[in-house]
Amino acid sequence: MSSARPADPFAEIDRLVCGAGFVPAEIATRARALQAAARQRTSDAPLSSSIAAVLLAQCGRRVALFTGFVVPESYPGGENDGPLGTVALARALKRAGFDVAVHADPQVLDHTTWLAAEIGADVRIAPIPEAPSSELVDAIDVGIAIEKPGENAAGHLHAWSGRRIEEGSISIDGLFERLSAAGKPTVAIGDRGNEIGFGAIHDEVLSLVPEARRCTCGCGGGTAAVTPADHLYPAAVSNWGAYGVCAGLAVATGDRSLALRPDEEERLLNVAAVRGCRDGLLKTVAFGVDGISGSVSIRIVGALEELVGRAG
Ligand SMILES: [Zn+2]
Repeated sequence: MSSARPADPFAEIDRLVCGAGFVPAEIATRARALQAAARQRTSDAPLSSSIAAVLLAQCGRRVALFTGFVVPESYPGGENDGPLGTVALARALKRAGFDVAVHADPQVLDHTTWLAAEIGADVRIAPIPEAPSSELVDAIDVGIAIEKPGENAAGHLHAWSGRRIEEGSISIDGLFERLSAAGKPTVAIGDRGNEIGFGAIHDEVLSLVPEARRCTCGCGGGTAAVTPADHLYPAAVSNWGAYGVCAGLAVATGDRSLALRPDEEERLLNVAAVRGCRDGLLKTVAFGVDGISGSVSIRIVGALEELVGRAG
């Protein structure tokens, strides 16, 4: 591994969270193409750079992170993609000086609490309400969604498989719309286009992810999400996107403690498995995420940590 200072650490972070060289080429290529579409909507700077900048401009304020992908038939206790990235990013933001709250689907609340405790993320964790109050909207300065299903054009949440989510994850689309209407920044991290935030590049999702055009529930809306976020961060695996934002914050601030460590990722993966969080592709408990071995996630986190060290 090179010890030279990277020319553009943020560009390297964006590349790493797509898993190039770590995952099948088609997965990395799709994530890169989704990132390129997201970049075209903003400043064309690396996404991890612009997201770190927009977050740090709000330092000290109240940031709310949302997670939970619950489908009773497939993941009654939620997917393991989302909560791990959420607690890592929550810890980074807390260490950077933010007032941090995590909001998780009720079925994922306890798991998220355990995961946060495992890495010492000392943040408030609360259930996502069915109907967000004005007080909740008022209490948020920045909203971040990590692997959170988003409504399609027909107003329904869908799993990647095409199944409509009923009695599972609670929609946060209305909440994000209210944050946007109030001029509050929103950030969304996702991997397949059915998560909130991808409305920012809806047309590109339909062309880059052809499977998103269809769903199996008969609503006719497909799985592609329609609600945008101000800043969308596509990644091969959503957890990796959140780890990339942590790394971006670490580079931007010079504080290496904001990055997750590989040994911490291993512990998070084990805790998620013990708690019954499932692999989103295998639909069973596994040491891995989205059908990709946990050893790969640990190597991605290691590469991000190494990059942060070189950039420092
Ligand atoms: Zn449908």
